[in-house]
Amino acid sequence: MGRASNPSGIAPSFPKEALQDVDCGICGSAENEPQFQDGAFSVVACSSCGVTFVTPRLLDASLIENVYDESYWNSSEAKTHGYSDYAGDAELYKRTYRDRLAIVHRHFSSTRREDGSPRRVLDVGCAAGYFLSVMAEDDWDISGLEPSDAIRVRAEAELGKENVSGGLLGMDDFEPRSFDLVTFWDVIEHIPDPRAALVRAGELLAPGGLLIIETQDVSSRAAKVLGKKWQHYKHAEHIYHFNPATLTALLDSAGFDSLENSGRLGGKYVTFAFVAERVGRIHPFLSFLASPLRLLGQKALYINLFDEMIVVAKPRT
Ligand SMILES: [Zn+2]
Repeated sequence: MGRASNPSGIAPSFPKEALQDVDCGICGSAENEPQFQDGAFSVVACSSCGVTFVTPRLLDASLIENVYDESYWNSSEAKTHGYSDYAGDAELYKRTYRDRLAIVHRHFSSTRREDGSPRRVLDVGCAAGYFLSVMAEDDWDISGLEPSDAIRVRAEAELGKENVSGGLLGMDDFEPRSFDLVTFWDVIEHIPDPRAALVRAGELLAPGGLLIIETQDVSSRAAKVLGKKWQHYKHAEHIYHFNPATLTALLDSAGFDSLENSGRLGGKYVTFAFVAERVGRIHPFLSFLASPLRLLGQKALYINLFDEMIVVAKPRT
């Protein structure tokens, strides 16, 4: 399927017939309140459960096939679609995840189980494997699941083929109760049926196991101030936008109790060039003001807009 850039600048455009109206994928309600329209896409809030979602959208199979191809990971339109150079920013991603290891260490005092074997982590939507690379440095036994063929080859190169699987959670053949930790970094908002994915994650967790989810917070100050220009409105790929209440409710319905929800480590190391690119999305004049930042190019800075939630949850027993 061809993809052209959308004059509105918020999302790539797809042939209209590829998009279908959807009911709320969390509670099934057909009633919703439109928040705003952008090209073919509407961002709506479910009248029943309150979750924010995008309709119409690409349906499940065409979503993976058409959104997460090579151009997603090496996008010339990263402010609206995908990442500008996911592999080139490897060290920045790893630095971000090394900081976030503090969350893992807070909940697991040892990387070894009582029998001395290494603890096991599954990263769902592991992309090029940067989080798992950091976990391997920390002595964990790692497994990654990544449906996008285009990026999975990078994960295989980074982590070893035996540690990476293709496909989707729920169609996997992992052994139940075999993981100590299952993670979803910037992933749950992409999944058409997030509850089913979380239920499966619960089945895969061993006693004492935990779930970590990071996703953007649609009720954050940044989301409110920036409105439809908020950087997380990428309609083809971010099909859900949670807030603390809707995320907690989703976890509850999938059989999890939330232990903590914090934006404190939700920031990311980015390059100055990235900042210059993103502020151009807010207003072209800001792009002009920020253009000297491009000279700083690949120098890194840590940015936290507190518009991400990192939730740690445990299966209810
Ligand atoms: Zn709903």
